[in-house]
Amino acid sequence: MSQPRHRLMDYVREDIFPHRFCVGCGCGTVLNVFTNAVAELKLDTSQMVCVSGIGCSAWIPSPYFKADTLHTTHGRPIAFATGVKMMRPDLKVIIIAGDGDISGIGGNHLIHAARRNIDLTVIMVNNMIYGMTGGQVAPTTPVGVKTTTTPHNNVEPPFKVAELVQAAGASFVARWTTFHVFQTMRTLQKAINKKGFSFVEIVSQCPDNFGKRVGMGKATDFLKYLKDQSVRLSKAKDMSEEELENKIIVGTLCDRDRPEFATQVHNITNQIVKQVAEENKN
Ligand code: SF4
Repeated sequence: MSQPRHRLMDYVREDIFPHRFCVGCGCGTVLNVFTNAVAELKLDTSQMVCVSGIGCSAWIPSPYFKADTLHTTHGRPIAFATGVKMMRPDLKVIIIAGDGDISGIGGNHLIHAARRNIDLTVIMVNNMIYGMTGGQVAPTTPVGVKTTTTPHNNVEPPFKVAELVQAAGASFVARWTTFHVFQTMRTLQKAINKKGFSFVEIVSQCPDNFGKRVGMGKATDFLKYLKDQSVRLSKAKDMSEEELENKIIVGTLCDRDRPEFATQVHNITNQIVKQVAEENKN
């Protein structure tokens, strides 16, 4: 007798499983939440393009998610995705990448895409370290953490990436953690449907690299840490800077409407084409 088929199997590449993530990695949760968000929205995956760079989080769409996917060079997924969007503004273009890829190596692409307000959805999985390459310090690593490249404790303050993107001009910005699966799913749905640059940071556990270095224990201990450290944006507004130290502020930071880049460029191009055609008639 044939086994009942799980409703999400239409969205994943079954032939690739079992997956390559370490046991307890948050990337599996992000794949699950993203797939649920797409399934509930009933998106036509033939009208989507997923783009990723290099790193453990880049594996989420490539190879596991069943849609056209560009697995690009390190730090460059937003640049490749911009090219796709400019040629095919009708497609949903979604980037899933890690914090090192997006805010370290690709930081410049990130802030300029937000400034231009290009109609892209960026899902940044923030595990606070370069996981795949062995645990080097990232721009998101908290102060005091020992990594392979900061064996005497990291002294660099971490980027608040969501706040940075908000200040740069993104239309939609939110932050959740892998503990907040339902909130993250609803937020991803809003981000995917938003016209303009939308950015969702998901703080995630990397038990194998980050967890080992900070003495976090099992993946479940890490999830408890993410739960305990999270503070809702509405509550954080009344807290002092000292009280918010090492806290993860979760919620929607902004949801606003701004002119979108690809639409504006296409409007100008169409006007020029019409103008040239008129001139050639005369
Ligand atoms: S190294 Fe970390 S982020 Fe990469 S798969 Fe393992 S647990 Fe996940």
